Amino acid sequence: MKKSFRMLRRLLFPPKCAACGVLLDDAFSAAPRALCAACLVKWDAQKEALCHCCGEPVADCKRPVNAMPRHGIDALIKLVEYEPQKRGGVGNRVIFKLKDKESAELQAFLAAELAPAIYKQLVELGQTPENAVLVWAPRSKKAERARGFDQSRGLCMALSHELGMQKPVKMIRRTGGRVQKMLGEEQRRQNAFSAFEAVPEHCADLKGKCVILVDDVVTTGSTLSACAAKLRPYKPATVIGVCVATDAPQNNQT
Ligand SMILES: [Zn+2]
Ligand SMILES: [Zn+2]
Repeated sequence: MKKSFRMLRRLLFPPKCAACGVLLDDAFSAAPRALCAACLVKWDAQKEALCHCCGEPVADCKRPVNAMPRHGIDALIKLVEYEPQKRGGVGNRVIFKLKDKESAELQAFLAAELAPAIYKQLVELGQTPENAVLVWAPRSKKAERARGFDQSRGLCMALSHELGMQKPVKMIRRTGGRVQKMLGEEQRRQNAFSAFEAVPEHCADLKGKCVILVDDVVTTGSTLSACAAKLRPYKPATVIGVCVATDAPQNNQT
């Protein structure tokens, strides 16, 4: 059902490469397709590039950033490093596309890219997808209105399909908070902590569960740290952070 829907959608709206915009040819491939062959090679190379924090390939690095461990996030799964100042680079263009325009194909592609690392992490923790719960860090109401969608929610929904997990849990983001990307780390931290709230009726069953916290990009880690802190009273057994990209270190505030 899902596959035939994807094919019909492809016939009506032929998918284009999320990085360079060329039409993707094989509309009948069963796997989600978001990149042309040439961009896929560059994407894979970016995943293999050595992480600035540990020297491992970025896609293998699970090191959380800044205050994340203090708030119970033991691992951060990512695919590439992101350099907001640079327009070029397949990774950057994928992030711009993910934020700018809702694409089920791109969300499904990124979910399929993230799923093996998430699954591996669950196995290492002695957890199973059945005992895991996906939670997304919502984007601001203002941004959601401007773009018409929430990319972290979309990515989270795609992950729940990919991993065969139950319906993701929603958090609340208060309106009136300042825009995270305009702030320094300490300001981001304070801003994020007052911005996010858990919804008690949605979080009632988190006790003993493995929470998988999803965001599109992690910069200082303050958004995911704030979300994890707000979920802590519901006593999840463990929290894993998941994002498509982390900020390259020259852009970090610390
Ligand atoms: Zn391309
Ligand atoms: Zn690393």
